[in-house]
Amino acid sequence: MRLLLVEDEKKLLNFLVQGLQEQHYAVDTADNGDDGLHWGLNFAYDVIVLDIMLPGKNGYEVCRELRNQRIITPVLMLTARDTVDDRVLGLDSGADDYLVKPFAFRELLARLRALARRDSYQKSTTLTVRDLVLDTISRTARRGEAVIDLSTKEYALLEMLMRHPNQVLSRATIAEHLWNYQDAPDSNVVDVYIRYLRKKIDDDHDEKVIRTVRGTGYQLVDPDQA
Ligand code: CA
Repeated sequence: MRLLLVEDEKKLLNFLVQGLQEQHYAVDTADNGDDGLHWGLNFAYDVIVLDIMLPGKNGYEVCRELRNQRIITPVLMLTARDTVDDRVLGLDSGADDYLVKPFAFRELLARLRALARRDSYQKSTTLTVRDLVLDTISRTARRGEAVIDLSTKEYALLEMLMRHPNQVLSRATIAEHLWNYQDAPDSNVVDVYIRYLRKKIDDDHDEKVIRTVRGTGYQLVDPDQA
């Protein structure tokens, strides 16, 4: 999952970036509204976390502009004030949710998970395809009885595949959602992570869940969703 974080409090920004990266998110940042809008308009994010009081355009303006430009990425607003007017203004400018500062990091994570579920056909915190189960809270996987230990990138890749069963995801699309701008890899790095993942979830099984679609990309095969 790739996330844009727009926040001008440097200490909070750094704390959140570090925490989110440890949790498997690829994070781009902006410390003012104009840059935030630019990033939001030009890159593919799964979630945008948007502070309201910002230098340049404020969070309401950024959100309204994103929606006017048909960016439908879920937006979670961070607000320092908690009045009914603030919340109504935030939601009416196109935000999907809001969080009042100061907030517990755990709650931010839970709200990000909830936003990720919103467009998913799987509403549970565990994703299931055949005998493969991914727990999005503990970030652990099981195939049958076997517990599978995943690195943060392997987890992010598997979650992306499991949220889009039977869709062919190109290497470019996968790279775009798993790495931030700064760490954008060569597309063959995706192949490397697919190989790691296959070793852990497919190699010991006759029924393979990850399929290579030649010349296009990869697909997680779920016969129950076909
Ligand atoms: Ca601020």
